[in-house]
Amino acid sequence: MKIGVPIEIKNNENRVGMTPSGVFELTKRNHTVYVQKNAGFNSGFLDEDYVGAGATIVDSIEAVYDAAEMIVKVKEPIEPEYKLIKPNQVVFTYFHFASSEVLTNAMIDSKAICIAYETVEDKDGALPLLIPMSEVAGRMSVQQGAKYLEKPIKGRGILLGGIPGVPPAHVMVLGGGVVGIQAAKMAAGLGANVTIMDINMKQLRYIADIMPANVNTEFSSEYNIRRHLPKTDLIIGGVLIKGAKAPKLITKDMLKDMRPGTVIVDVAVDQGGCFETTKPTTHEEPTYIIDDVVHYSVANMPGAVPYTSTVGLTNVTLPYVIKLANDGWEKACDNNASLAKGLNIVKGKIVYKEIAEAFDMQM
Ligand code: NAD
Repeated sequence: MKIGVPIEIKNNENRVGMTPSGVFELTKRNHTVYVQKNAGFNSGFLDEDYVGAGATIVDSIEAVYDAAEMIVKVKEPIEPEYKLIKPNQVVFTYFHFASSEVLTNAMIDSKAICIAYETVEDKDGALPLLIPMSEVAGRMSVQQGAKYLEKPIKGRGILLGGIPGVPPAHVMVLGGGVVGIQAAKMAAGLGANVTIMDINMKQLRYIADIMPANVNTEFSSEYNIRRHLPKTDLIIGGVLIKGAKAPKLITKDMLKDMRPGTVIVDVAVDQGGCFETTKPTTHEEPTYIIDDVVHYSVANMPGAVPYTSTVGLTNVTLPYVIKLANDGWEKACDNNASLAKGLNIVKGKIVYKEIAEAFDMQM
Protein backbone atom coordinates (compact mmCIF):
# COMPACT_ATOMS: atom_id res chain seq x y z
CA MET A 1 0.00 0.00 0.00
CA LYS A 2 1.05 3.61 -0.50
CA ILE A 3 1.05 5.42 2.84
CA GLY A 4 1.39 9.18 3.38
CA VAL A 5 2.69 11.04 6.43
CA PRO A 6 2.03 14.80 6.18
CA ILE A 7 3.22 17.65 8.40
CA GLU A 8 0.68 18.56 11.06
CA ILE A 9 -0.53 22.06 10.22
CA LYS A 10 -2.77 22.65 13.25
CA ASN A 11 -1.47 25.49 15.41
CA ASN A 12 1.21 24.37 17.91
CA GLU A 13 1.03 20.69 16.93
CA ASN A 14 4.58 19.35 16.86
CA ARG A 15 3.91 15.63 16.74
CA VAL A 16 4.05 13.53 13.56
CA GLY A 17 2.00 10.47 12.57
CA MET A 18 4.90 8.05 12.12
CA THR A 19 8.47 7.64 13.36
CA PRO A 20 11.32 6.35 11.18
CA SER A 21 11.01 3.07 13.07
CA GLY A 22 7.37 2.80 11.93
CA VAL A 23 8.39 3.57 8.35
CA PHE A 24 10.99 0.80 8.54
CA GLU A 25 8.36 -1.75 9.64
CA LEU A 26 6.19 -0.79 6.66
CA THR A 27 8.88 -0.64 3.97
CA LYS A 28 10.26 -4.03 5.01
CA ARG A 29 6.76 -5.38 4.28
CA ASN A 30 7.01 -3.87 0.79
CA HIS A 31 4.78 -0.87 1.42
CA THR A 32 5.72 2.57 0.12
CA VAL A 33 5.79 5.46 2.60
CA TYR A 34 5.72 9.10 1.46
CA VAL A 35 6.82 11.49 4.19
CA GLN A 36 6.46 15.24 3.76
CA LYS A 37 9.75 17.16 3.95
CA ASN A 38 10.48 18.13 7.60
CA ALA A 39 7.37 16.32 8.89
CA GLY A 40 9.27 14.82 11.82
CA PHE A 41 11.56 17.78 12.54
CA ASN A 42 9.68 19.14 15.59
CA SER A 43 9.52 15.67 17.11
CA GLY A 44 13.28 15.23 16.69
CA PHE A 45 13.31 13.12 13.50
CA LEU A 46 15.21 14.28 10.41
CA ASP A 47 14.39 13.59 6.77
CA GLU A 48 17.57 11.51 6.50
CA ASP A 49 16.30 9.28 9.35
CA TYR A 50 13.16 8.61 7.30
CA VAL A 51 15.14 8.03 4.11
CA GLY A 52 17.34 5.56 6.01
CA ALA A 53 14.17 3.70 7.00
CA GLY A 54 13.08 3.48 3.36
CA ALA A 55 10.73 6.48 3.07
CA THR A 56 10.37 8.71 0.03
CA ILE A 57 10.50 12.39 1.00
CA VAL A 58 8.07 14.62 -0.89
CA ASP A 59 8.09 18.41 -0.96
CA SER A 60 4.48 19.38 -0.40
CA ILE A 61 1.42 18.32 1.56
CA GLU A 62 -0.46 18.10 -1.75
CA ALA A 63 2.05 15.55 -3.02
CA VAL A 64 1.58 13.39 0.11
CA TYR A 65 -2.20 13.32 -0.20
CA ASP A 66 -1.97 12.80 -3.97
CA ALA A 67 0.31 9.78 -3.72
CA ALA A 68 -1.17 7.98 -0.72
CA GLU A 69 -3.94 5.40 -0.41
CA MET A 70 -3.77 5.84 3.38
CA ILE A 71 -2.87 8.95 5.38
CA VAL A 72 -1.48 8.45 8.88
CA LYS A 73 -1.40 11.58 11.01
CA VAL A 74 -2.04 12.92 14.51
CA LYS A 75 -4.70 15.65 14.67
CA GLU A 76 -8.03 15.94 12.92
CA PRO A 77 -7.82 17.52 9.45
CA ILE A 78 -8.38 21.26 9.50
CA GLU A 79 -9.96 23.37 6.78
CA PRO A 80 -6.99 23.63 4.34
CA GLU A 81 -6.68 19.82 4.46
CA TYR A 82 -10.31 19.03 3.65
CA LYS A 83 -9.89 19.46 -0.09
CA LEU A 84 -6.75 17.28 -0.14
CA ILE A 85 -8.58 14.16 1.06
CA LYS A 86 -9.77 11.93 -1.79
CA PRO A 87 -12.68 9.50 -2.13
CA ASN A 88 -11.75 5.99 -0.88
CA GLN A 89 -8.60 7.27 0.83
CA VAL A 90 -8.13 5.91 4.35
CA VAL A 91 -7.41 8.59 6.96
CA PHE A 92 -6.17 7.21 10.28
CA THR A 93 -5.85 9.92 12.96
CA TYR A 94 -7.53 11.52 16.01
CA PHE A 95 -10.81 13.02 14.74
CA HIS A 96 -13.04 13.79 17.79
CA PHE A 97 -15.96 14.18 15.36
CA ALA A 98 -18.59 14.76 18.06
CA SER A 99 -17.00 18.12 18.84
CA SER A 100 -17.18 19.47 15.25
CA GLU A 101 -20.09 19.34 12.84
CA VAL A 102 -18.01 21.21 10.24
CA LEU A 103 -15.35 18.49 10.28
CA THR A 104 -18.01 15.77 10.21
CA ASN A 105 -19.67 17.27 7.14
CA ALA A 106 -16.32 17.80 5.41
CA MET A 107 -15.36 14.16 5.92
CA ILE A 108 -18.79 12.97 4.75
CA ASP A 109 -18.28 15.06 1.60
CA SER A 110 -14.77 13.70 1.08
CA LYS A 111 -16.09 10.10 0.70
CA ALA A 112 -12.94 8.94 2.50
CA ILE A 113 -12.67 6.14 5.09
CA CYS A 114 -12.14 7.86 8.43
CA ILE A 115 -10.76 5.67 11.19
CA ALA A 116 -10.48 7.53 14.49
CA TYR A 117 -7.74 6.71 17.00
CA GLU A 118 -9.95 7.73 19.91
CA THR A 119 -12.68 5.16 19.24
CA VAL A 120 -10.46 2.13 18.64
CA GLU A 121 -11.55 0.05 21.63
CA ASP A 122 -10.31 -3.14 23.32
CA LYS A 123 -12.62 -5.97 24.43
CA ASP A 124 -12.53 -4.63 28.01
CA GLY A 125 -13.65 -1.14 26.91
CA ALA A 126 -10.17 0.43 27.19
CA LEU A 127 -9.13 2.95 24.52
CA PRO A 128 -5.59 1.86 23.64
CA LEU A 129 -4.78 4.81 21.37
CA LEU A 130 -5.63 7.35 24.08
CA ILE A 131 -3.65 5.72 26.89
CA PRO A 132 -0.15 7.00 25.96
CA MET A 133 -1.36 10.62 25.96
CA SER A 134 -2.82 10.16 29.46
CA GLU A 135 0.47 8.60 30.51
CA VAL A 136 2.35 11.64 29.21
CA ALA A 137 -0.04 14.10 30.87
CA GLY A 138 0.02 12.22 34.19
CA ARG A 139 3.81 12.18 34.35
CA MET A 140 4.06 15.76 33.15
CA SER A 141 1.58 17.01 35.74
CA VAL A 142 4.13 16.35 38.49
CA GLN A 143 6.97 18.00 36.54
CA GLN A 144 4.79 21.08 36.05
CA GLY A 145 3.50 21.02 39.61
CA ALA A 146 7.04 20.83 41.00
CA LYS A 147 8.08 23.79 38.84
CA TYR A 148 5.14 26.01 39.79
CA LEU A 149 5.68 25.28 43.50
CA GLU A 150 8.86 27.35 43.19
CA LYS A 151 8.65 30.78 44.80
CA PRO A 152 9.64 32.90 41.75
CA ILE A 153 6.57 31.51 39.94
CA LYS A 154 4.37 32.28 42.97
CA GLY A 155 4.37 28.77 44.41
CA ARG A 156 4.75 27.80 48.06
CA GLY A 157 8.49 27.47 47.70
CA ILE A 158 8.70 23.84 48.69
CA LEU A 159 10.76 21.06 47.12
CA LEU A 160 8.57 18.01 46.40
CA GLY A 161 11.02 15.55 47.91
CA GLY A 162 12.31 17.75 50.78
CA ILE A 163 15.91 17.10 51.88
CA PRO A 164 17.40 15.20 54.83
CA GLY A 165 16.05 17.00 57.89
CA VAL A 166 13.22 18.76 55.97
CA PRO A 167 9.99 16.87 55.29
CA PRO A 168 8.75 16.40 51.71
CA ALA A 169 5.68 18.03 50.16
CA HIS A 170 2.17 16.56 50.26
CA VAL A 171 0.60 15.70 46.92
CA MET A 172 -3.07 14.79 46.46
CA VAL A 173 -4.04 13.00 43.24
CA LEU A 174 -7.74 12.89 42.37
CA GLY A 175 -8.59 9.94 40.13
CA GLY A 176 -6.58 6.73 40.09
CA GLY A 177 -6.83 5.91 36.38
CA VAL A 178 -4.05 6.24 33.82
CA VAL A 179 -3.28 9.90 34.60
CA GLY A 180 -3.53 9.41 38.37
CA ILE A 181 -1.31 6.34 38.55
CA GLN A 182 1.42 7.94 36.44
CA ALA A 183 1.24 11.15 38.49
CA ALA A 184 1.37 9.30 41.81
CA LYS A 185 4.33 7.23 40.62
CA MET A 186 6.30 10.31 39.57
CA ALA A 187 5.52 12.26 42.76
CA ALA A 188 6.38 9.26 44.91
CA GLY A 189 9.61 8.76 42.98
CA LEU A 190 10.64 12.31 43.83
CA GLY A 191 10.01 11.54 47.49
CA ALA A 192 6.71 13.37 48.09
CA ASN A 193 4.00 12.08 50.42
CA VAL A 194 1.18 11.12 48.06
CA THR A 195 -2.51 10.47 48.62
CA ILE A 196 -4.42 9.10 45.65
CA MET A 197 -8.22 9.14 45.71
CA ASP A 198 -10.79 7.30 43.60
CA ILE A 199 -14.35 6.08 43.93
CA ASN A 200 -13.53 2.72 42.33
CA MET A 201 -12.54 0.38 45.17
CA LYS A 202 -11.16 -2.25 42.80
CA GLN A 203 -8.82 0.36 41.35
CA LEU A 204 -7.80 1.57 44.83
CA ARG A 205 -6.96 -2.02 45.85
CA TYR A 206 -4.81 -2.40 42.74
CA ILE A 207 -3.05 0.92 43.40
CA ALA A 208 -2.43 0.03 47.04
CA ASP A 209 -0.79 -3.22 45.88
CA ILE A 210 1.59 -1.71 43.33
CA MET A 211 2.60 1.65 44.82
CA PRO A 212 5.53 2.35 47.12
CA ALA A 213 5.04 3.09 50.83
CA ASN A 214 4.87 6.86 50.37
CA VAL A 215 1.58 6.53 48.43
CA ASN A 216 -1.64 6.16 50.42
CA THR A 217 -5.01 5.41 48.91
CA GLU A 218 -8.21 6.98 50.12
CA PHE A 219 -11.85 6.83 49.00
CA SER A 220 -12.75 10.01 47.13
CA SER A 221 -15.41 12.02 48.95
CA GLU A 222 -15.93 15.71 49.62
CA TYR A 223 -15.25 15.16 53.32
CA ASN A 224 -11.93 13.39 52.70
CA ILE A 225 -10.82 15.93 50.08
CA ARG A 226 -11.60 18.89 52.41
CA ARG A 227 -9.66 17.25 55.25
CA HIS A 228 -6.49 17.18 53.12
CA LEU A 229 -6.63 20.72 51.73
CA PRO A 230 -4.89 22.64 54.56
CA LYS A 231 -1.81 20.39 54.44
CA THR A 232 -1.54 19.71 50.69
CA ASP A 233 1.02 21.49 48.48
CA LEU A 234 0.11 20.10 45.05
CA ILE A 235 -3.24 18.76 43.82
CA ILE A 236 -3.51 16.89 40.53
CA GLY A 237 -6.94 16.35 38.96
CA GLY A 238 -7.20 13.26 36.72
CA VAL A 239 -10.79 12.10 37.11
CA LEU A 240 -12.91 10.90 34.23
CA ILE A 241 -16.49 9.75 33.93
CA LYS A 242 -16.67 8.38 30.38
CA GLY A 243 -18.78 10.46 28.05
CA ALA A 244 -19.63 13.04 30.76
CA LYS A 245 -18.26 16.30 32.08
CA ALA A 246 -15.76 15.91 34.90
CA PRO A 247 -17.29 16.27 38.39
CA LYS A 248 -16.22 19.46 40.24
CA LEU A 249 -14.33 17.96 43.15
CA ILE A 250 -12.62 21.21 44.21
CA THR A 251 -15.06 24.12 44.47
CA LYS A 252 -14.13 27.81 44.61
CA ASP A 253 -14.81 28.03 48.36
CA MET A 254 -12.29 25.22 48.98
CA LEU A 255 -9.44 27.43 47.68
CA LYS A 256 -9.63 29.37 50.98
CA ASP A 257 -8.74 26.19 52.89
CA MET A 258 -5.46 25.89 50.95
CA ARG A 259 -2.24 27.63 51.90
CA PRO A 260 -1.04 30.50 49.64
CA GLY A 261 1.10 29.14 46.82
CA THR A 262 -0.60 25.75 46.67
CA VAL A 263 -0.51 24.49 43.06
CA ILE A 264 -3.46 22.76 41.43
CA VAL A 265 -2.99 21.00 38.07
CA ASP A 266 -6.23 20.10 36.30
CA VAL A 267 -5.38 17.44 33.72
CA ALA A 268 -9.10 16.78 33.24
CA VAL A 269 -9.48 20.27 31.74
CA ASP A 270 -10.37 18.74 28.35
CA GLN A 271 -13.53 17.29 29.93
CA GLY A 272 -14.44 20.62 31.54
CA GLY A 273 -12.05 20.26 34.48
CA CYS A 274 -12.56 18.80 37.95
CA PHE A 275 -11.91 22.11 39.75
CA GLU A 276 -14.67 24.73 39.67
CA THR A 277 -12.16 27.51 38.97
CA THR A 278 -10.51 25.76 36.00
CA LYS A 279 -10.33 27.50 32.65
CA PRO A 280 -8.27 26.09 29.77
CA THR A 281 -4.77 27.56 29.37
CA THR A 282 -2.00 27.18 26.80
CA HIS A 283 1.69 26.33 26.92
CA GLU A 284 2.40 30.02 26.24
CA GLU A 285 0.50 31.07 29.38
CA PRO A 286 -0.04 27.92 31.39
CA THR A 287 -1.03 29.32 34.79
CA TYR A 288 -3.22 31.89 36.54
CA ILE A 289 -3.82 32.63 40.20
CA ILE A 290 -7.12 32.75 42.10
CA ASP A 291 -7.18 33.30 45.88
CA ASP A 292 -3.37 32.80 46.00
CA VAL A 293 -3.73 29.31 44.50
CA VAL A 294 -1.73 28.66 41.31
CA HIS A 295 -3.88 26.98 38.63
CA TYR A 296 -2.29 25.01 35.74
CA SER A 297 -4.78 23.73 33.16
CA VAL A 298 -3.18 23.25 29.75
CA ALA A 299 -5.54 21.34 27.50
CA ASN A 300 -2.89 19.67 25.30
CA MET A 301 -0.13 18.84 27.74
CA PRO A 302 1.49 16.19 25.46
CA GLY A 303 2.14 18.93 22.88
CA ALA A 304 5.01 20.22 25.03
CA VAL A 305 6.94 16.94 24.75
CA PRO A 306 6.48 15.99 21.09
CA TYR A 307 9.33 13.48 21.01
CA THR A 308 7.91 11.37 23.85
CA SER A 309 4.34 11.86 22.67
CA THR A 310 5.07 10.94 19.05
CA VAL A 311 6.97 7.81 19.96
CA GLY A 312 4.35 6.84 22.57
CA LEU A 313 1.51 7.37 20.11
CA THR A 314 3.13 5.58 17.19
CA ASN A 315 4.07 2.61 19.41
CA VAL A 316 0.35 1.92 19.79
CA THR A 317 -0.90 2.96 16.35
CA LEU A 318 1.72 1.05 14.32
CA PRO A 319 0.26 -2.47 14.78
CA TYR A 320 -3.04 -1.15 13.38
CA VAL A 321 -1.30 0.72 10.55
CA ILE A 322 0.46 -2.51 9.59
CA LYS A 323 -2.86 -4.44 9.56
CA LEU A 324 -4.50 -1.73 7.43
CA ALA A 325 -1.57 -1.66 5.00
CA ASN A 326 -1.27 -5.44 4.68
CA ASP A 327 -4.95 -6.30 4.36
CA GLY A 328 -6.69 -3.11 3.20
CA TRP A 329 -9.20 -1.42 5.52
CA GLU A 330 -12.17 -3.75 4.89
CA LYS A 331 -10.42 -7.04 5.64
CA ALA A 332 -8.40 -5.48 8.47
CA CYS A 333 -11.59 -4.25 10.19
CA ASP A 334 -13.42 -7.54 9.52
CA ASN A 335 -10.59 -9.40 11.24
CA ASN A 336 -10.10 -7.02 14.14
CA ALA A 337 -13.04 -5.89 16.28
CA SER A 338 -10.96 -3.23 18.08
CA LEU A 339 -9.95 -1.58 14.82
CA ALA A 340 -13.50 -1.86 13.44
CA LYS A 341 -14.64 0.31 16.38
CA GLY A 342 -12.42 3.03 14.92
CA LEU A 343 -14.54 3.31 11.76
CA ASN A 344 -16.42 6.60 12.07
CA ILE A 345 -17.26 7.72 8.53
CA VAL A 346 -17.05 5.45 5.50
CA LYS A 347 -17.44 6.74 1.94
CA GLY A 348 -19.87 9.49 2.87
CA LYS A 349 -21.80 7.62 5.61
CA ILE A 350 -21.52 7.96 9.37
CA VAL A 351 -21.06 4.47 10.81
CA TYR A 352 -20.53 5.39 14.50
CA LYS A 353 -23.73 5.79 16.52
CA GLU A 354 -22.58 8.55 18.90
CA ILE A 355 -21.49 10.80 16.01
CA ALA A 356 -24.81 10.43 14.20
CA GLU A 357 -26.60 11.15 17.49
CA ALA A 358 -24.43 14.18 18.25
CA PHE A 359 -25.69 15.96 15.11
CA ASP A 360 -29.03 14.24 14.62
CA MET A 361 -27.78 12.72 11.37
CA GLN A 362 -28.54 9.46 9.57
CA MET A 363 -26.22 6.46 9.94
P1 NAD B 1 -9.20 7.00 33.39
O1 NAD B 1 -10.56 6.60 32.96
O2 NAD B 1 -8.07 6.06 33.20
O3 NAD B 1 -9.22 7.40 34.95
C1 NAD B 1 -10.18 8.23 35.52
C2 NAD B 1 -10.39 7.80 36.95
O4 NAD B 1 -11.23 8.77 37.61
C3 NAD B 1 -11.09 6.45 37.12
O5 NAD B 1 -10.28 5.56 37.88
C4 NAD B 1 -12.39 6.82 37.85
O6 NAD B 1 -12.83 5.80 38.74
C5 NAD B 1 -11.94 8.07 38.58
N1 NAD B 1 -13.05 8.90 39.11
C6 NAD B 1 -14.29 9.11 38.59
N2 NAD B 1 -14.99 9.90 39.43
C7 NAD B 1 -14.19 10.18 40.49
C8 NAD B 1 -14.35 10.94 41.69
N3 NAD B 1 -15.49 11.55 41.97
N4 NAD B 1 -13.30 11.02 42.53
C9 NAD B 1 -12.15 10.40 42.27
N5 NAD B 1 -11.95 9.66 41.17
C10 NAD B 1 -12.96 9.55 40.29
O7 NAD B 1 -8.91 8.41 32.66
P2 NAD B 1 -7.47 9.01 32.31
O8 NAD B 1 -6.97 8.41 31.04
O9 NAD B 1 -6.64 8.92 33.53
O10 NAD B 1 -7.84 10.53 31.98
C11 NAD B 1 -8.19 11.45 32.98
C12 NAD B 1 -8.51 12.80 32.33
O11 NAD B 1 -7.33 13.39 31.80
C13 NAD B 1 -9.49 12.72 31.15
O12 NAD B 1 -10.40 13.79 31.22
C14 NAD B 1 -8.61 12.87 29.96
O13 NAD B 1 -9.30 13.37 28.82
C15 NAD B 1 -7.63 13.88 30.51
N6 NAD B 1 -6.39 14.07 29.72
C16 NAD B 1 -5.97 15.37 29.57
C17 NAD B 1 -4.79 15.64 28.90
C18 NAD B 1 -4.31 17.06 28.81
O14 NAD B 1 -3.43 17.34 28.01
N7 NAD B 1 -4.82 17.96 29.62
C19 NAD B 1 -4.05 14.61 28.30
C20 NAD B 1 -4.50 13.30 28.45
C21 NAD B 1 -5.68 13.03 29.18
